[in-house]
Amino acid sequence: MKEAIRKAKETLAQTEAVIIGAGAGLSTAAGFVYSGERFEKYFGDFGRRYGFRDMYSGGFYPYQTQEEFWAYFSRNIWVNRYMNAPKPVYQNLFQLVQGKDYFVLTTNVDHCFQKAGFEKQRLFYTQGDYGLFQCSKPCCRKTWDNEESVRGMILSQGFEISAENELRLPEGKTAAMTIPSALLPKCPNCGRPLTTNLRSDDKFVEDEGWEAAASAYEVWVKAHQQEKTVYLEIGVGFNTPGIIKYNFWQQVYQNPQAVYICLNPEAGDVPKEIQDRSILIGGDSAAAIEALIP
Ligand SMILES: [Zn+2]
Repeated sequence: MKEAIRKAKETLAQTEAVIIGAGAGLSTAAGFVYSGERFEKYFGDFGRRYGFRDMYSGGFYPYQTQEEFWAYFSRNIWVNRYMNAPKPVYQNLFQLVQGKDYFVLTTNVDHCFQKAGFEKQRLFYTQGDYGLFQCSKPCCRKTWDNEESVRGMILSQGFEISAENELRLPEGKTAAMTIPSALLPKCPNCGRPLTTNLRSDDKFVEDEGWEAAASAYEVWVKAHQQEKTVYLEIGVGFNTPGIIKYNFWQQVYQNPQAVYICLNPEAGDVPKEIQDRSILIGGDSAAAIEALIP
């Protein structure tokens, strides 16, 4: 393991162009955990009433009313998008690419890259952003920032929001598990309900920002196709391997000067064609990122 870190560090030091491909595992490493203590703290009441035990299942529960659904979902968005990650993993990663010509391709929707200082022009969020609303139909290809709307729903449940966006309940109070109907988010264009701008079905809105990010990604990849480039994959599982993992393998295969570095607790195999240009680092990705900082 030490040898892999040493090799990766040396490769990064010698390479100007780095593309990061990040999956859910990176946010898990940063402490965005969807069950256990974090779930209990913000969703314990929902869990007890409806019988689920993690934030993910809670998002799929068939709530009887939109008011209950949004009480749950507003907490979910706030906790996983507007609150800071418990550990500075993204900040460390940002240090790692300081002074480099970097780009980020990610399936994460939690906005952590931007919060850590990564330039928006160098990011492509393929699966959307938890901080945006879109029309549920959709009637148009627009998205809207949802911070104010979500904040209102949170406050209506009795929570207080600190300057650091932390949620807390005043002493002795219990949170409401529903919101006033007046706060239900409605499309400014057609009046239908709004929904989060996440790719979960074919209704996902690819707005102007998304299109711009998609082409920025294309341009970056093309510009570095025949240059020394590091493809740094972090926390990508096998849910949607086509977006990052297979894509990176392909790019590395086609560019003899490219190196593939994979950080994943279960760093698996790579195709034999790129094995000699691959560095696999298993174990805790947070620790590996820290060790890779120059
Ligand atoms: Zn609409």
